[in-house]
Amino acid sequence: MNAYQPGLKSILNSLPTSRLGCSDQERMALHRIRDTLTDHEINSEFQCFSANAFAIDDYHLLVSHAHSSTLIPCLPIGFCRGIQGSAVTGGYFFAEEESSYSISQCAGKIVLCDKTTFKESFNELLNYGVIGFVLVSGKDSGLMSTQLKNSRKMDPSVPGVSISHEDKCTIKSSKPRTLSLLCRQTVGNFNSSNLIVRLPASGLSKGDVVIGAHIDSVYGIDGGCDNASGAALLVELAIALSGMRRAYDVSLVWFGCEEYGWIGSQHFVDNHPDISRVKLMVNLDSLGAEDIPLEIKYYPAQENAIDLERHCQVIGGDSSLARSKGSGDDLPFSRSGVSTVCFHRATPFLHSTMDTMSSISCTSLSVTLSQVLRFLCSYMSSS
Ligand SMILES: [Zn+2]
Repeated sequence: MNAYQPGLKSILNSLPTSRLGCSDQERMALHRIRDTLTDHEINSEFQCFSANAFAIDDYHLLVSHAHSSTLIPCLPIGFCRGIQGSAVTGGYFFAEEESSYSISQCAGKIVLCDKTTFKESFNELLNYGVIGFVLVSGKDSGLMSTQLKNSRKMDPSVPGVSISHEDKCTIKSSKPRTLSLLCRQTVGNFNSSNLIVRLPASGLSKGDVVIGAHIDSVYGIDGGCDNASGAALLVELAIALSGMRRAYDVSLVWFGCEEYGWIGSQHFVDNHPDISRVKLMVNLDSLGAEDIPLEIKYYPAQENAIDLERHCQVIGGDSSLARSKGSGDDLPFSRSGVSTVCFHRATPFLHSTMDTMSSISCTSLSVTLSQVLRFLCSYMSSS
């Protein structure tokens, strides 16, 4: 257990930023990880799949006054259901949580709303004939981006971008005449892959344990915490676990295309020869931020409920424990009857331009590494 040399910083430095699913950067990141593993004499293999994904061609938000217009910095809201995107110009409306508004006022307008309104009233707004969306980031969170998961049913003709809270205030105070919104993208089946390391049990196997971290990030976001941190941690885990006795067959998986709706992890589950052999899936997502407590979500799929909680309790430190399903790459597993544990630090700036590589604290990440190892040692050594 003391055999590993933390090389987190060098792994992180070698990973490209803005790793949109199916992009060259995502592919490059997986190759960098593979090279690092090879340097430590750990074999890995690619598992290829194709995903309904997008490439952004153009996007903008233009704010027009009587005699002038201003381009507002924005990011596109990625559609991934075969939508090529579109452009609209017209009146606008602020649908804010704190203000009371009648939804019928939104008809034929470009709607500016916060994430909660967007999530909760999306379909309703569409039904009232909204022509475009401007998603406003939370206060002090910079410019945030999001990708609409594959599962969401949505109108193909409605474009959307996201802007920062500060820019929303500018628009609100300047009372422009119209907004013009453009979001153009190429949608299709692009290739992505998972990278897998298989470490067989030292003796008789008690089953499979899968430990995963996604490598992709949302469009336009470096994704230091989400999830270069988890991907780097997984490299260190692979090095540590390869030198230990193992009672389980361990698979370490760097998943592609998480942000499109857990596509890589779903592909792994769908192609597993016998998913009932998997006793536990551990997901490492968004770690490394300083002074943010470690959240551990555990979901016991079978009767080993008490055990899983007990093993999580050995982690200690700044961690908090909750019995619930995760909302990332562990979901396809829990839906298939696999117990899951998710490690996460609820950093407020996730999916925002503030989530850069420099937002990761290697000290915090090293602490998390020993916490995850403590949990794994406890789980894997129990009878
Ligand atoms: Zn993530």
